[in-house]
Amino acid sequence: MKVFVSRLIPDTGLQLLQQAGLQTTVWTEDRQITQQELIEQAKQHDALLCMGSDKMDAHFLTQCQHLKVIAQFSVGYDNVDVAASTRLGIPFGNTPDVLSDATADVAFLLMLAVSRKAFYMHKRIISGDWGTYRPTLNLGVELKNKTLGIFGLGRIGMELARRCRGAYNMKVIYHNRSHNVQAEQELQAQRVSFEELLAQSDVLSVHVALSPETEGKFNADVFRKMKPSSIFINTARGKIHQEQDLIQALNEGWIWGAGLDVTNPEPMKPDNPLLSMPNAAVLPHIGSATVQARNDMARLAAMNIIAGLHGKRLPHCINPEVYKKDKSISN
Ligand code: NAP
Repeated sequence: MKVFVSRLIPDTGLQLLQQAGLQTTVWTEDRQITQQELIEQAKQHDALLCMGSDKMDAHFLTQCQHLKVIAQFSVGYDNVDVAASTRLGIPFGNTPDVLSDATADVAFLLMLAVSRKAFYMHKRIISGDWGTYRPTLNLGVELKNKTLGIFGLGRIGMELARRCRGAYNMKVIYHNRSHNVQAEQELQAQRVSFEELLAQSDVLSVHVALSPETEGKFNADVFRKMKPSSIFINTARGKIHQEQDLIQALNEGWIWGAGLDVTNPEPMKPDNPLLSMPNAAVLPHIGSATVQARNDMARLAAMNIIAGLHGKRLPHCINPEVYKKDKSISN
């Protein structure tokens, strides 16, 4: 059986596929494959290992309904029409957990970088503007004993909360649709309303999935309700905050700073005002970009493909409802 892989992934994954006797074709061009090219390739294969940047909409899934399994190389799946995949009987996999540490590290890094204006001060050295010692200029803020607010306290949020409790004894509050009992027991995290999260957080970090409920959630009205001394961090998805409103919030002092690993659009243009602001830090979506996380993501994605092609349940499936249709699928 044949698997199409829409980007070069670490060998750990490719080797697993080959050891399972599967023939792999990897898209090796250094550009994003177009949807039409992906459809053409997928039509010649039995399974697809795709990226979060591939558009897995109803059109794609309908055209490629012969696929026995699709395994995505990411935990987030806001690019997928999950209902269509289920309706067409295609099991769809993702790669949870293995990138939580790496992504929480990036949120922590951004929090610290913004709190000390680190990216901005680094740029000043490069531009020849180290300057003289000025005791009152470019001062940062300290994080010890402050309140960390998490919007979407799941796997990645939990890892950030652990880091912030351990490093700075931060109080953890969060807003989810349901209680995170583990966080409440282990970290004494308190579930609060969205309004309370805005009003109380010194650092507000977004870890929720992008969905119709969360798209554009952080707009001017929301930024105005945050503390003027607060730091906004988004390592989830760029569409969750509205960029022009964030720029206004930073310029007008509604919030103190912002750190982003995700933007809308991606890539961000080099003349974007956020890149030259003293109180902003931006990274190019590197949350899961560690050797360990990417190896593990490749392994999990390959395991999903192998299980799917053997008619077994995917170890990490985003649409388990697909199995309700077919009672013959074993665990
Ligand atoms: P997760 O474990 O599913 O955590 C998400 C949390 O958000 C859940 O606890 C969920 O709790 C809460 N939530 C979902 N919808 C909500 C809503 N409408 N309102 C309030 N809370 C809501 O996911 P994860 O593994 O931590 O990943 C989170 C996101 O990070 C992914 O979806 C992905 O977009 C992003 N990510 C980015 C990178 C990067 O490179 N920057 C890397 C990995 C992941 P309830 O169900 O109780 O509400």
